Amino acid sequence: MTKKRIAILGSTGSIGVQALDVIAQHPDKYEVETLTAHRNVSLLAQQAIRFQPNAVAIADDAKYGELKSLLAGHPIKVYAGSKAICEVAQLPGADVVISSLVGIAGLKPTICAVEAKKQVALANKETLVVAGDLISRLAQKSGAAIIPVDSEHSAVFQCLMGECSPVEKIYLTASGGPFLRASADELRCATVEQALKHPRWSMGAKVTIDSASMMNKGFEVIEARWLFDLKPEQVEVLVHPQSVVHSMVQFADGCIKAQLGAPDMRIPIGYALSFPERLRLNVSRFCFAENPTLTFQKPDTEKFRCLALAYEALRMGGNAACAVNAANEVAVDAFLHGKIGFQDIAKLVELGLQKNSFIAQPTLEDYIETDSRVRRMVESCK
Ligand code: MG
Repeated sequence: MTKKRIAILGSTGSIGVQALDVIAQHPDKYEVETLTAHRNVSLLAQQAIRFQPNAVAIADDAKYGELKSLLAGHPIKVYAGSKAICEVAQLPGADVVISSLVGIAGLKPTICAVEAKKQVALANKETLVVAGDLISRLAQKSGAAIIPVDSEHSAVFQCLMGECSPVEKIYLTASGGPFLRASADELRCATVEQALKHPRWSMGAKVTIDSASMMNKGFEVIEARWLFDLKPEQVEVLVHPQSVVHSMVQFADGCIKAQLGAPDMRIPIGYALSFPERLRLNVSRFCFAENPTLTFQKPDTEKFRCLALAYEALRMGGNAACAVNAANEVAVDAFLHGKIGFQDIAKLVELGLQKNSFIAQPTLEDYIETDSRVRRMVESCK
Protein backbone atom coordinates (compact mmCIF):
# COMPACT_ATOMS: atom_id res chain seq x y z
CA MET A 1 0.00 0.00 0.00
CA THR A 2 1.34 3.43 -0.84
CA LYS A 3 1.71 5.63 2.16
CA LYS A 4 -0.11 8.96 2.37
CA ARG A 5 2.34 11.84 2.57
CA ILE A 6 1.44 14.48 5.13
CA ALA A 7 2.44 18.14 5.36
CA ILE A 8 1.83 19.75 8.75
CA LEU A 9 1.65 23.54 8.79
CA GLY A 10 2.20 24.44 12.44
CA SER A 11 3.72 21.17 13.63
CA THR A 12 4.96 22.48 16.99
CA GLY A 13 1.51 23.59 18.18
CA SER A 14 -0.97 21.43 20.06
CA ILE A 15 -2.71 20.03 16.94
CA GLY A 16 0.60 19.49 15.13
CA VAL A 17 2.08 17.53 18.03
CA GLN A 18 -1.04 15.36 18.31
CA ALA A 19 -1.09 14.80 14.54
CA LEU A 20 2.48 13.50 14.74
CA ASP A 21 1.38 11.19 17.55
CA VAL A 22 -1.35 9.76 15.26
CA ILE A 23 1.18 9.38 12.43
CA ALA A 24 3.64 7.65 14.78
CA GLN A 25 0.90 5.13 15.66
CA HIS A 26 0.58 4.24 11.93
CA PRO A 27 4.01 4.29 10.28
CA ASP A 28 2.68 1.78 7.74
CA LYS A 29 0.09 4.29 6.48
CA TYR A 30 1.68 7.73 6.75
CA GLU A 31 4.91 9.53 6.04
CA VAL A 32 5.76 13.11 6.87
CA GLU A 33 6.47 15.23 3.82
CA THR A 34 6.83 18.69 5.38
CA LEU A 35 6.82 20.29 8.82
CA THR A 36 6.55 24.02 9.48
CA ALA A 37 6.65 26.12 12.64
CA HIS A 38 6.37 29.76 13.59
CA ARG A 39 9.49 30.11 15.73
CA ASN A 40 9.94 27.01 17.93
CA VAL A 41 13.19 25.88 16.31
CA SER A 42 14.24 23.28 18.85
CA LEU A 43 10.96 21.33 18.77
CA LEU A 44 10.76 21.60 14.98
CA ALA A 45 14.29 20.20 14.67
CA GLN A 46 13.51 17.34 17.10
CA GLN A 47 10.37 16.46 15.13
CA ALA A 48 12.27 16.62 11.84
CA ILE A 49 15.04 14.33 13.11
CA ARG A 50 12.45 11.81 14.30
CA PHE A 51 10.10 11.88 11.27
CA GLN A 52 12.64 12.69 8.51
CA PRO A 53 10.44 14.91 6.30
CA ASN A 54 11.54 16.04 2.88
CA ALA A 55 11.49 19.68 3.96
CA VAL A 56 10.98 21.94 6.97
CA ALA A 57 10.14 25.64 7.04
CA ILE A 58 10.32 28.16 9.85
CA ALA A 59 8.24 31.33 9.50
CA ASP A 60 10.66 33.48 11.48
CA ASP A 61 13.56 34.28 9.08
CA ALA A 62 15.92 35.03 11.94
CA LYS A 63 15.82 31.36 13.03
CA TYR A 64 17.02 29.97 9.71
CA GLY A 65 20.70 29.57 10.68
CA GLU A 66 19.88 27.84 13.95
CA LEU A 67 17.48 25.39 12.27
CA LYS A 68 19.96 24.70 9.47
CA SER A 69 22.72 23.84 11.92
CA LEU A 70 20.45 21.67 14.12
CA LEU A 71 19.60 19.62 11.00
CA ALA A 72 23.15 19.47 9.61
CA GLY A 73 23.89 16.01 8.28
CA HIS A 74 20.20 15.16 7.66
CA PRO A 75 18.86 15.04 4.09
CA ILE A 76 16.15 17.60 4.91
CA LYS A 77 15.61 20.83 2.95
CA VAL A 78 15.37 23.89 5.17
CA TYR A 79 13.35 27.00 4.27
CA ALA A 80 12.49 30.19 6.16
CA GLY A 81 10.04 33.09 5.92
CA SER A 82 6.27 33.35 5.69
CA LYS A 83 6.40 32.97 1.89
CA ALA A 84 8.14 29.63 2.34
CA ILE A 85 5.21 28.38 4.45
CA CYS A 86 2.90 29.08 1.49
CA GLU A 87 5.30 27.46 -0.95
CA VAL A 88 5.66 24.22 1.00
CA ALA A 89 1.85 24.04 1.31
CA GLN A 90 1.76 23.61 -2.48
CA LEU A 91 4.67 21.21 -3.02
CA PRO A 92 3.58 18.22 -5.11
CA GLY A 93 4.90 15.66 -2.59
CA ALA A 94 2.10 16.08 -0.04
CA ASP A 95 -1.26 14.29 -0.36
CA VAL A 96 -2.77 15.80 2.78
CA VAL A 97 -2.01 19.24 4.23
CA ILE A 98 -2.88 19.71 7.89
CA SER A 99 -3.49 23.43 8.38
CA SER A 100 -2.95 23.92 12.09
CA LEU A 101 -1.47 27.41 12.21
CA VAL A 102 -2.96 29.74 14.80
CA GLY A 103 -4.90 32.86 13.85
CA ILE A 104 -4.95 34.78 10.59
CA ALA A 105 -1.39 33.61 9.87
CA GLY A 106 -3.08 30.44 8.59
CA LEU A 107 -5.10 32.20 5.89
CA LYS A 108 -2.63 32.49 3.01
CA PRO A 109 -0.97 29.08 3.44
CA THR A 110 -4.42 27.43 3.59
CA ILE A 111 -5.47 29.24 0.41
CA CYS A 112 -2.27 27.97 -1.24
CA ALA A 113 -3.04 24.37 -0.24
CA VAL A 114 -6.65 24.70 -1.47
CA GLU A 115 -5.49 26.16 -4.79
CA ALA A 116 -3.03 23.29 -5.18
CA LYS A 117 -6.01 20.89 -4.85
CA LYS A 118 -4.68 19.22 -1.72
CA GLN A 119 -6.83 17.32 0.72
CA VAL A 120 -6.83 19.96 3.47
CA ALA A 121 -7.29 18.81 7.05
CA LEU A 122 -8.41 22.13 8.46
CA ALA A 123 -7.66 22.91 12.09
CA ASN A 124 -7.09 26.64 11.59
CA LYS A 125 -10.66 27.84 12.16
CA GLU A 126 -9.75 31.50 11.68
CA THR A 127 -9.33 30.76 7.96
CA LEU A 128 -13.06 30.09 7.59
CA VAL A 129 -14.06 32.73 10.12
CA VAL A 130 -12.18 35.46 8.28
CA ALA A 131 -12.70 34.43 4.67
CA GLY A 132 -15.18 31.55 4.57
CA ASP A 133 -16.87 32.64 1.34
CA LEU A 134 -13.54 33.01 -0.45
CA ILE A 135 -12.19 29.65 0.74
CA SER A 136 -15.43 27.85 -0.17
CA ARG A 137 -15.36 29.32 -3.67
CA LEU A 138 -11.69 28.43 -4.17
CA ALA A 139 -12.24 24.88 -2.94
CA GLN A 140 -15.17 24.45 -5.30
CA LYS A 141 -13.09 25.74 -8.19
CA SER A 142 -9.98 23.64 -7.54
CA GLY A 143 -11.80 20.55 -6.29
CA ALA A 144 -9.79 20.50 -3.05
CA ALA A 145 -11.48 18.55 -0.24
CA ILE A 146 -11.65 20.33 3.11
CA ILE A 147 -11.94 17.89 6.00
CA PRO A 148 -12.61 19.55 9.35
CA VAL A 149 -10.32 18.76 12.27
CA ASP A 150 -12.18 20.82 14.86
CA SER A 151 -13.92 18.18 17.00
CA GLU A 152 -17.43 19.64 16.61
CA HIS A 153 -17.17 19.96 12.84
CA SER A 154 -15.60 16.55 12.51
CA ALA A 155 -18.64 15.27 14.42
CA VAL A 156 -21.07 16.97 12.02
CA PHE A 157 -19.02 15.77 9.05
CA GLN A 158 -19.17 12.19 10.36
CA CYS A 159 -22.94 12.45 11.01
CA LEU A 160 -23.43 13.55 7.40
CA MET A 161 -21.66 10.52 5.94
CA GLY A 162 -24.14 8.51 3.90
CA GLU A 163 -26.83 11.22 4.01
CA CYS A 164 -28.15 12.91 0.90
CA SER A 165 -31.12 14.84 2.37
CA PRO A 166 -30.78 18.45 3.47
CA VAL A 167 -29.92 19.26 7.07
CA GLU A 168 -32.62 20.93 9.19
CA LYS A 169 -30.20 22.18 11.82
CA ILE A 170 -27.04 21.28 13.68
CA TYR A 171 -26.26 21.44 17.38
CA LEU A 172 -22.70 22.46 18.16
CA THR A 173 -21.82 21.38 21.67
CA ALA A 174 -19.69 23.54 23.98
CA SER A 175 -18.01 22.48 27.21
CA GLY A 176 -18.75 25.93 28.64
CA GLY A 177 -15.08 26.30 29.58
CA PRO A 178 -13.67 27.08 33.03
CA PHE A 179 -16.15 29.92 33.69
CA LEU A 180 -19.40 28.10 33.01
CA ARG A 181 -20.61 28.70 36.58
CA ALA A 182 -18.70 31.91 37.30
CA SER A 183 -20.62 35.02 38.43
CA ALA A 184 -20.33 38.35 36.62
CA ASP A 185 -17.95 39.55 39.37
CA GLU A 186 -15.79 36.45 39.14
CA LEU A 187 -15.57 36.90 35.37
CA ARG A 188 -14.47 40.50 35.75
CA CYS A 189 -11.62 39.46 38.05
CA ALA A 190 -10.70 36.26 36.17
CA THR A 191 -6.94 35.68 35.95
CA VAL A 192 -4.94 34.35 33.01
CA GLU A 193 -4.17 31.24 35.04
CA GLN A 194 -7.87 30.54 35.68
CA ALA A 195 -8.77 31.14 32.02
CA LEU A 196 -6.06 28.73 30.87
CA LYS A 197 -7.44 25.87 32.98
CA HIS A 198 -9.76 24.18 30.52
CA PRO A 199 -11.81 21.45 32.20
CA ARG A 200 -11.88 18.99 29.24
CA TRP A 201 -9.62 19.70 26.30
CA SER A 202 -5.88 20.20 26.12
CA MET A 203 -5.23 22.97 23.57
CA GLY A 204 -2.97 25.92 22.81
CA ALA A 205 -3.21 29.19 24.81
CA LYS A 206 -5.13 31.22 22.20
CA VAL A 207 -7.93 28.68 21.70
CA THR A 208 -8.11 27.98 25.44
CA ILE A 209 -8.79 31.66 26.18
CA ASP A 210 -11.28 31.71 23.30
CA SER A 211 -13.01 28.73 24.93
CA ALA A 212 -13.19 30.53 28.27
CA SER A 213 -14.86 33.56 26.61
CA MET A 214 -16.93 31.31 24.27
CA MET A 215 -15.52 33.27 21.34
CA ASN A 216 -14.25 29.88 20.22
CA LYS A 217 -17.82 28.59 19.97
CA GLY A 218 -18.83 31.74 18.12
CA PHE A 219 -16.04 31.11 15.62
CA GLU A 220 -17.18 27.50 15.30
CA VAL A 221 -20.72 28.67 14.44
CA ILE A 222 -19.22 30.71 11.59
CA GLU A 223 -16.94 27.83 10.60
CA ALA A 224 -19.97 25.50 10.45
CA ARG A 225 -21.88 27.94 8.28
CA TRP A 226 -19.17 27.73 5.61
CA LEU A 227 -18.24 24.07 5.93
CA PHE A 228 -21.82 22.83 5.70
CA ASP A 229 -23.51 25.70 3.82
CA LEU A 230 -26.01 26.56 6.58
CA LYS A 231 -27.90 29.69 7.61
CA PRO A 232 -27.06 31.25 10.99
CA GLU A 233 -30.43 30.11 12.45
CA GLN A 234 -29.62 26.50 11.49
CA VAL A 235 -26.65 26.45 13.88
CA GLU A 236 -27.52 26.15 17.57
CA VAL A 237 -25.04 26.03 20.43
CA LEU A 238 -25.67 23.73 23.41
CA VAL A 239 -23.57 23.75 26.55
CA HIS A 240 -22.61 20.15 27.31
CA PRO A 241 -19.99 20.18 30.08
CA GLN A 242 -19.09 16.49 29.77
CA SER A 243 -17.77 17.00 26.19
CA VAL A 244 -18.78 13.49 25.13
CA VAL A 245 -21.32 14.36 22.42
CA HIS A 246 -19.11 16.29 20.01
CA SER A 247 -22.03 17.66 17.97
CA MET A 248 -25.33 16.59 16.36
CA VAL A 249 -27.25 16.90 13.12
CA GLN A 250 -31.05 17.08 12.87
CA PHE A 251 -32.80 16.06 9.65
CA ALA A 252 -36.23 16.86 8.13
CA ASP A 253 -37.87 13.78 9.68
CA GLY A 254 -36.89 14.87 13.19
CA CYS A 255 -34.12 12.28 13.41
CA ILE A 256 -30.97 13.44 15.21
CA LYS A 257 -27.56 11.86 14.70
CA ALA A 258 -24.78 12.49 17.20
CA GLN A 259 -21.11 11.60 17.27
CA LEU A 260 -19.68 10.63 20.67
CA GLY A 261 -16.33 9.69 22.10
CA ALA A 262 -13.67 10.63 24.63
CA PRO A 263 -12.59 14.29 24.33
CA ASP A 264 -9.29 13.61 22.57
CA MET A 265 -8.23 15.64 19.52
CA ARG A 266 -6.35 12.68 18.10
CA ILE A 267 -9.73 11.16 17.11
CA PRO A 268 -10.81 13.99 14.73
CA ILE A 269 -7.20 14.42 13.54
CA GLY A 270 -7.01 10.70 12.75
CA TYR A 271 -10.33 10.80 10.91
CA ALA A 272 -9.22 13.77 8.79
CA LEU A 273 -6.10 11.79 7.80
CA SER A 274 -7.77 8.45 7.16
CA PHE A 275 -11.15 9.59 5.74
CA PRO A 276 -13.22 7.79 4.51
CA GLU A 277 -11.68 4.94 6.52
CA ARG A 278 -11.08 4.81 10.27
CA LEU A 279 -7.81 4.16 12.07
CA ARG A 280 -7.20 1.97 15.07
CA LEU A 281 -6.27 4.57 17.70
CA ASN A 282 -4.70 4.17 21.08
CA VAL A 283 -6.96 6.67 22.90
CA SER A 284 -9.27 6.13 25.88
CA ARG A 285 -12.77 4.72 25.27
CA PHE A 286 -15.88 6.41 26.64
CA CYS A 287 -17.76 4.28 29.18
CA PHE A 288 -21.53 4.96 29.44
CA ALA A 289 -21.99 3.05 32.68
CA GLU A 290 -19.29 5.07 34.45
CA ASN A 291 -20.64 8.39 33.08
CA PRO A 292 -24.41 7.96 33.12
CA THR A 293 -25.31 11.66 33.06
CA LEU A 294 -24.96 13.78 29.95
CA THR A 295 -26.46 17.27 30.27
CA PHE A 296 -27.34 20.01 27.78
CA GLN A 297 -28.37 23.64 28.27
CA LYS A 298 -28.61 26.88 26.33
CA PRO A 299 -25.56 29.16 26.61
CA ASP A 300 -25.80 32.43 28.57
CA THR A 301 -25.03 35.03 25.90
CA GLU A 302 -25.37 37.92 28.38
CA LYS A 303 -22.44 36.52 30.32
CA PHE A 304 -20.58 35.31 27.25
CA ARG A 305 -21.01 38.33 24.96
CA CYS A 306 -18.44 37.05 22.46
CA LEU A 307 -20.81 34.30 21.33
CA ALA A 308 -23.59 36.82 20.61
CA LEU A 309 -21.12 39.06 18.75
CA ALA A 310 -20.06 36.16 16.53
CA TYR A 311 -23.69 35.50 15.55
CA GLU A 312 -24.11 39.21 14.85
CA ALA A 313 -21.04 39.21 12.58
CA LEU A 314 -22.27 36.10 10.80
CA ARG A 315 -25.66 37.71 10.10
CA MET A 316 -23.95 40.86 8.82
CA GLY A 317 -21.69 38.87 6.49
CA GLY A 318 -19.01 40.60 4.37
CA ASN A 319 -15.88 41.45 6.35
CA ALA A 320 -17.66 41.62 9.75
CA ALA A 321 -16.33 38.27 11.03
CA CYS A 322 -12.85 39.25 9.85
CA ALA A 323 -13.10 42.37 12.04
CA VAL A 324 -14.28 40.30 15.00
CA ASN A 325 -11.38 37.90 14.58
CA ALA A 326 -8.80 40.70 14.36
CA ALA A 327 -10.17 42.48 17.43
CA ASN A 328 -10.26 39.19 19.32
CA GLU A 329 -6.65 38.28 18.45
CA VAL A 330 -5.43 41.65 19.77
CA ALA A 331 -7.65 41.40 22.86
CA VAL A 332 -6.62 37.83 23.75
CA ASP A 333 -2.96 38.74 23.38
CA ALA A 334 -3.45 41.77 25.65
CA PHE A 335 -5.27 39.61 28.22
CA LEU A 336 -2.52 36.95 28.14
CA HIS A 337 0.03 39.69 28.80
CA GLY A 338 -1.94 41.04 31.76
CA LYS A 339 -2.83 44.31 30.03
CA ILE A 340 -6.63 44.02 30.11
CA GLY A 341 -9.26 42.19 32.15
CA PHE A 342 -11.11 39.11 30.95
CA GLN A 343 -14.39 40.90 30.25
CA ASP A 344 -12.54 43.59 28.26
CA ILE A 345 -12.04 40.98 25.53
CA ALA A 346 -15.74 41.14 24.59
CA LYS A 347 -15.71 44.96 24.85
CA LEU A 348 -12.82 45.21 22.39
CA VAL A 349 -14.43 42.70 20.05
CA GLU A 350 -17.64 44.75 20.06
CA LEU A 351 -15.65 47.90 19.36
CA GLY A 352 -13.88 46.19 16.47
CA LEU A 353 -17.22 45.19 14.98
CA GLN A 354 -18.83 48.63 15.46
CA LYS A 355 -15.94 50.63 14.05
CA ASN A 356 -15.23 48.33 11.13
CA SER A 357 -15.83 49.86 7.69
CA PHE A 358 -18.19 47.30 6.25
CA ILE A 359 -17.40 45.68 2.89
CA ALA A 360 -20.16 43.43 1.53
CA GLN A 361 -18.08 41.37 -0.91
CA PRO A 362 -14.46 41.48 0.17
CA THR A 363 -11.49 40.25 -1.85
CA LEU A 364 -8.46 38.62 -0.20
CA GLU A 365 -6.76 42.05 -0.16
CA ASP A 366 -9.85 43.54 1.55
CA TYR A 367 -9.67 40.88 4.25
CA ILE A 368 -5.99 41.50 4.87
CA GLU A 369 -6.58 45.26 4.92
CA THR A 370 -9.58 44.88 7.30
CA ASP A 371 -7.48 42.69 9.57
CA SER A 372 -4.67 45.22 9.91
CA ARG A 373 -6.98 48.23 10.17
CA VAL A 374 -9.05 46.68 12.98
CA ARG A 375 -5.89 45.53 14.77
CA ARG A 376 -4.45 49.05 14.74
CA MET A 377 -7.74 50.51 15.93
CA VAL A 378 -8.15 48.01 18.78
CA GLU A 379 -4.47 48.34 19.77
CA SER A 380 -4.98 52.07 20.22
CA CYS A 381 -8.12 51.57 22.36
CA LYS A 382 -7.03 48.84 24.75
MG1 MG B 1 -13.76 22.83 18.73
